[in-house]
Amino acid sequence: MARRKKVYEGKAKILYEGPEPGTLVQYFKDDATAGNGAKKDVIDGKGVLNNRLSEFFMTGLSSIGIPTHFIRRLNMREQLIRHVEIIPLEVIVRNFAAGSMAKRLGMEEGTALPRPIVEFSYKDDALGDPLVPEEYIIAFGWASQQDLDDIVSLALRVNDFLSGVMHGVGIKLVDFKIEIGRIWENDYPRLVVADEISPDSCRLWDIETGAHLDKDVFRRDLGSLSDAYTEVARRLGVLPSNVTHRPKPTLIN
Ligand code: C5P
Repeated sequence: MARRKKVYEGKAKILYEGPEPGTLVQYFKDDATAGNGAKKDVIDGKGVLNNRLSEFFMTGLSSIGIPTHFIRRLNMREQLIRHVEIIPLEVIVRNFAAGSMAKRLGMEEGTALPRPIVEFSYKDDALGDPLVPEEYIIAFGWASQQDLDDIVSLALRVNDFLSGVMHGVGIKLVDFKIEIGRIWENDYPRLVVADEISPDSCRLWDIETGAHLDKDVFRRDLGSLSDAYTEVARRLGVLPSNVTHRPKPTLIN
């Protein structure tokens, strides 16, 4: 096959030029990083699971009328997506205090918040994705006030959908991050959910046991990350039958 043109490589994914104008191929790597790249490992099968899980969530969102960049899954590790203009923000929705919020405010992890809270970080690895107020976003032209209003309502709809789906399989959606892209349709801009939705970008706790089923397992050395992601995929019924996180195949002579 002809070599494809790489458009972008991030910590967990690679984007290649797509087969048609306006499309890209998103490849999910097995690489896991935390602390903005300070901690790294390769987790066999993570890319395969996240490709499937992101497909599952993005397809579910479009089925309830929430636009996303997802077109279709191509194979175990790749999906075809729409080429969007990424808004340089990490949009974080929190239902319970955890992670950086719990630390910043001295709150106990798991404390229920009075309502879902949407916050924004500026996407910049070198700066460690700093939390930014809306004032900065508008003043620096990263997004308009109208965009922000639309992003908040999009994020809250995604939260309702994901919380419900996860609750149905005994998992509490503590918080998550999404990225938003802009596409142009007949000269009109439209905001869509982009990037990925997977246990890499959500905090998922088992409702019964409180066990972590997300990237905190890696960040905090709590056990096997592939076991945790496999459990999420299994409960959601999206585990491909030919994927487990067995060690790499052994050649038999
Ligand atoms: O670390 P923090 O508590 O701010 O993370 C909030 C949520 O956003 C978590 O679900 C985390 O996995 C996600 N996140 C992410 N990518 C980042 C920062 C946070 O997916 N760069």
